[in-house]
Amino acid sequence: MASISVRGASKTKGLVRDIKDIANFCLHRLMQDRLANKIAVDFFIMKEIDDEEESEGGGGTIGDCEWMDDAYSPKEFSVRIATHSIKNGRLKKFNRREILEIVCHELVHVKQQAKKEKYFHQRKDLVKFRGKLYDTNKVNYWDFPWEIEAYGRERGLYEMWLESKKSKK
Ligand SMILES: [Zn+2]
Repeated sequence: MASISVRGASKTKGLVRDIKDIANFCLHRLMQDRLANKIAVDFFIMKEIDDEEESEGGGGTIGDCEWMDDAYSPKEFSVRIATHSIKNGRLKKFNRREILEIVCHELVHVKQQAKKEKYFHQRKDLVKFRGKLYDTNKVNYWDFPWEIEAYGRERGLYEMWLESKKSKK
């Protein structure tokens, strides 16, 4: 099992348990058990993420993922998850499913870094992904191949986790 901690979600019934459960499910689905067992993720669940630097999906950051130990071979990650987004100037609360899909999305980014598919270059605006260098100022967010993978897998990971829960009962 990976080591998962969750902060900031204790008031929402069952959310901590669900995040720990789906995080372990995703990590073991996305990488070999040997690597997944070495991964540690600290989740911080918050209403809004206050960050101008990076944003998921443009309309305010709803999740982000940072390595904490070693840029070259990271095993420890810090992931922030927002429970609200801003739509037409108003705060809208995500439902449980939406929050857990953001968790799945960020775990794809954990996988990309843990498996050394994605590196941040010394120059902050450059990202190396599967051997190719991308200038994040010149490529649209929605065209980033690491985002295409994360958006492409978030729903399927969620669905597979639901299935796995059903079969356990
Ligand atoms: Zn993303």
